[in-house]
Parts: sequence; C-alpha cells; structure tokens
Amino acid sequence: MLVVKNLNTYYGNIHALKGVNLEVKQGEIVTLIGSNGAGKSTTLGTITGLLKATSGEVWFKEENITKTPPSQIVKKGISLSPEGREVFPALTVEENLKLGAFTRNDKKTINETYDRVYELFPRLFERKKQLAGTLSGGEQQMLAIGRALMSEPQLLLLDEPSLGLAPNLVLLIFDLIVSINKQGTTVLLVEQNANMALSIAHRGYVLETGKVTMSDDAKILCCNEMVKKAYLGNI
Ligand code: ATP
Repeated sequence: MLVVKNLNTYYGNIHALKGVNLEVKQGEIVTLIGSNGAGKSTTLGTITGLLKATSGEVWFKEENITKTPPSQIVKKGISLSPEGREVFPALTVEENLKLGAFTRNDKKTINETYDRVYELFPRLFERKKQLAGTLSGGEQQMLAIGRALMSEPQLLLLDEPSLGLAPNLVLLIFDLIVSINKQGTTVLLVEQNANMALSIAHRGYVLETGKVTMSDDAKILCCNEMVKKAYLGNI
C-alpha cells in the first residue's frame, strides 16, 4: 500500500533522512522505532508532504505521491495524528473533529464517521462541547487520533501516541489502535515505547540516525538482542 524508496530529507544542512526504505502492506500495523532524533517524525512528515524530500520516492497504492501537496495526500487516503497532539485548544472537541473531515463534503457519511469516532472514544462524545485546550493529555491524544480518522483514511500514521500518558491510558490507546486496524485501517505507528509497539505490530523497522538498520516481523524484532539492549530496556 505504501512504499518509501531511498528517501532523503534535509533541514537546511542537517541530513535527517539518509536513504530510508520501508513498506506497509494493506491491513498491517507496522511500527517504526528508534531513539530521539532518529528521524521518525521526519519520515512521517515527508510521507505526508509536509516536508519535501530532496530525493527518493513515496508511492501510495501504486501512485507516486512524492510531490503531491499535503491536502491532496489526505484526500487520497493518508492521515496523520501528529506528535504532541497539536489539537486546536480554542476550538471544541466537535470543531476539532470537523476540521479532520475538511476534504469531505457528504454530510451523511461524515456523520457516520462522527458516530464511529464517538463509539471508539466515548470520552470524546461526553466532552464534545468542551474546549480541546481544557482536555487532559490522554483525552487530547484521543482527539488527535479521532480527528485523523475523520478523513476515513486507508492508512493512518500515528506519531508517538503514547507520549506522556499514564500506563493505563497507554494500554487503552494501544487497544484502540488494534481496534482501528481490525476495522480495516492500515497503520504506520511511530513509537519510542518499542515494547508496546512491537506487541501490537505485525512488522517493525528500526531507524538509527536517519537510516533503517533493521526490519523484520515484530515477534522476531522484539527477541533480537540488539533491539532488546537499545530499545526494550532489558539488557
Ligand atoms: P523524537 O522521538 O525525539 O521525536 P524523531 O526520531 O522523531 O525523534 P526527528 O524529529 O525526525 O526525530 O528528527 C530527526 C533529526 O532532524 C534530528 O537530528 C532533529 O534535530 C532534526 N530536526 C527535526 N526537525 C528539525 C527542524 N525543524 N529543523 C532542524 N532540524 C530538525
């Protein structure tokens, strides 16, 4: 479904992605793990067209989208839930969700998506008139994911959904990612919580200083000694 080929991305003269290759197949949860500054967010930013690749290609459903503008990429079926949540604090929960549907016109099907999101996140339904800036961290994370779902993406990109959440909420968010995937959405999950990410993913990639250094089935990666030492905290 998604093929990233030899992607190079720079911030000025900082070479953040150094020839990244990865693939996500329809129906999968694929995780991209790596330390701070490895280039995980940059990879998602480049896939979604928010950052421009200097070279390399991004293909989605056999179409080259490397130079496609971000709003068109959303329309084609890719949606991003960004790191740090980035909800609009002065807008209500409902208004934030509405913005997620900006590429769509059909009221009936948009309403069906509201129902789907509220069913996944009953907390958001209870708080739909509340300003997003007054939600707890976990609720804001739910809203960021819910907003990304409002475009009915075929591929959902999640940037650190567990960041800063209490352990019970982390479990809840990961359960919800599995539910979203079971409902038919393919997922590319960026995480520093490699343990949790590998426990729900089908496959994983390890990114180190802008390069993919390992890729395998999640079950194999989480037993790999190097991965254990570097990312799973059990030496
Ligand atoms: P984290 O887990 O800490 O979010 P990451 O793996 O997502 O890390 P990126 O945010 O993609 O890493 O950063 C990759 C590299 O690019 C880092 O060296 C970072 O300092 C650099 N970088 C990221 N954003 C910018 C920017 N706006 N300007 C300059 N350099 C940047």
